Amino acid sequence: MSHFDRFLMVDWSGGNDSGARPRKDAIWIGDSGPHGDAAPLYQRNRTVAEQTLTSRIEAALTAGERLCIGFDFPFGYPTGFAAALTGHVDPFAVWGWLAARITDAPRENNRFDVAAGINQHLTQGRGPFWGNGLRRDIAGLPRTKAGYRNPFPARRKIETRAKGAFTCWQLSGAGAVGSQVLMGLPVLERLRQRFADQVAVWPFEPLDRPIAFVEIWPSLINDAVRAATGPDDIRDAVQVRLVARALGGLAPDRLTAMLQVDAPEEGWILGHGFEQELLQHEGAISLKPPPLNNDCFALPPGVNWTPVDEALALLRDRLHPVVARETVPLMQASGRVLAEDLSARRANPPLANTAVDGYGFAAETIAGQDEIALPLVAGRAAAGLAYPGEVPPGYAIRMLTGATLPQGVDTVVLDEDCATDAGQVAFRGPVKPGANTRRAGEDVTQGAPILPRGRVLTPADLALAAATGLSDLPVHAPLRVGVLSTGDEVVPAGSPAAPGQIFDANRPMLLSLIARFGHVPVDLGHVPDNRATLRARLDSADADAILTSGGASAGDEDHVSALLRESGALNAWRIALKPGRPLALGMWQGKPVFGLPGNPVAAFVCALVFARPALRLLAGADWSEPTGFDVPAAFAKSKKPGRREYLRARIREGRAEVFKSEGSGRISGLSWAEGLVELPDGAAEITPCTPVRYIPFGSFGI
Ligand code: AMP
Ligand code: MG
Repeated sequence: MSHFDRFLMVDWSGGNDSGARPRKDAIWIGDSGPHGDAAPLYQRNRTVAEQTLTSRIEAALTAGERLCIGFDFPFGYPTGFAAALTGHVDPFAVWGWLAARITDAPRENNRFDVAAGINQHLTQGRGPFWGNGLRRDIAGLPRTKAGYRNPFPARRKIETRAKGAFTCWQLSGAGAVGSQVLMGLPVLERLRQRFADQVAVWPFEPLDRPIAFVEIWPSLINDAVRAATGPDDIRDAVQVRLVARALGGLAPDRLTAMLQVDAPEEGWILGHGFEQELLQHEGAISLKPPPLNNDCFALPPGVNWTPVDEALALLRDRLHPVVARETVPLMQASGRVLAEDLSARRANPPLANTAVDGYGFAAETIAGQDEIALPLVAGRAAAGLAYPGEVPPGYAIRMLTGATLPQGVDTVVLDEDCATDAGQVAFRGPVKPGANTRRAGEDVTQGAPILPRGRVLTPADLALAAATGLSDLPVHAPLRVGVLSTGDEVVPAGSPAAPGQIFDANRPMLLSLIARFGHVPVDLGHVPDNRATLRARLDSADADAILTSGGASAGDEDHVSALLRESGALNAWRIALKPGRPLALGMWQGKPVFGLPGNPVAAFVCALVFARPALRLLAGADWSEPTGFDVPAAFAKSKKPGRREYLRARIREGRAEVFKSEGSGRISGLSWAEGLVELPDGAAEITPCTPVRYIPFGSFGI
């Protein structure tokens, strides 16, 4: 049962008394109860904190409240330490051992001497503890890792997953947690003894008592803490308040899910792998990332023509996600961008099972035989239907594909290889032990990383996440991308057009590209070549980023570049690229604006080559380069050096053909094409059958 009425979250300290005035590096206790959260409590030293916790536990017991108390230090040491120190594979044996030896007074304690004693005993003083915060040398406690020896893992399993977590062996230095463990566990042990039968410790005991002790690590919600800490705030205080609020705001079943871990010796960090949910519930904190820098499109001084790869490298370097994060049900997560690394909550397959229909038995019982007949036990094992009993040695059981291997079964023979009657099954040996079975976790083990943050979720990813026990996924909110056409001569499709006017081809094209890229297209319409109208439209745009087309060069009517320049944030990128040289990048009120050329072919190519990877970064996705491959050319061309060229192309009979005209107003060629041929920045002499690089449109996600 994991419903609690109150959450007290403790930021512990390994040091001396901090004085009467609240300050950092002291002990802070966050408190979130049924009626919201209270201001964090300052505790000048451990003795005071122990008294406070004692009276809070007594009060909760009297009031019949269930109380969850979190401490920000490890409850256990890496595997093997408990047994080496105490002779028992039991974290509580370590708690008791330390409680019997650690002495603690506000200004002095013996933690370094106790650690040195353990080192002497285990390694003649070379480890596993290291780091001495005192002036005096202590025999058996290395100050640094020179000559250091540690017979145990450097970290607990959870610390290998929690990025930035410190090892409990390190006793001093910024961020070290080792001293807090030595000074904290004796306090926990005393509270546990004092309230025996009322306190349960996670994850070593079931939480079926009124008081629970859990291990926390506030760094899990660092983003929120950073956002909420003002210049005059004490970070430790903000931290415990937010952790208490985050846990207090969770639905009981979500807390139950978080409590489900298997770490009987080392312990675990509550909420690891659930960061997104914790952040969601910690409430009232904006999870929107910081805005982009205004100069994120600045080019190095003196740059004239920027090569394509350099332009891309600049974008890659400077852009970061601008969208908030949210949690969505797995069923709705296709195409969304993962906001956190995911790991398997459950192994796949969860249990060993049979890959075929057949008969299962223990391989050992038929070893060496080549004509085998085994009596069958009654009943059968089918998928989803656990066979309740054990299959005795020398017996076999009927099994159907996917059925969990019953106890006593490690090998299965295929139906087709067997003869049966009601009572027994006969087949020929030898049979390889383990044949036709799938090991538990052979595909994915529990806790293994499955999908990285920044991944755009595919249908197969959803299968993987579902199979490994995930149901809600942390993703980025969709990126909203506005599309605006400019030009006096441009009129929307469907309206009457005077002879000199042209229909707006770019807007439907770009809106559709945005949707194919996986973002939310926002139609910002069309504006004439008029700065005031353009300004008003940009001002009112409800979008995270904006693509415009037309007016991006430096001419009289190029109002997009003029307006962005006026606002002080234009960078006219002259990219060594054909088609599409004028590309105006700028910030408009914190929003990136990509000023694409007016020519539809150039707008299209620039959208694929530049806007696509840039928008992906803004959306929280990883950097992406389109996959191309070399194919023989079906055309001839002599290309001058100086800029990269993209030709409208398609593959026929294994060769890349290009559109008959390179004119960048030829929209029919865009529609004709199925991909682009990319010609290098330098000169190239292409004759039929010269290999050229072909990038299918599919590689751009369209
Ligand atoms: P600009 O970059 O504004 O000088 O425009 C370059 C060329 O692209 C001109 O011939 C424009 O008429 C044309 N053009 C600009 N916007 C569009 C549009 N939305 N649809 C079709 N052609 C356009
Ligand atoms: Mg124009």
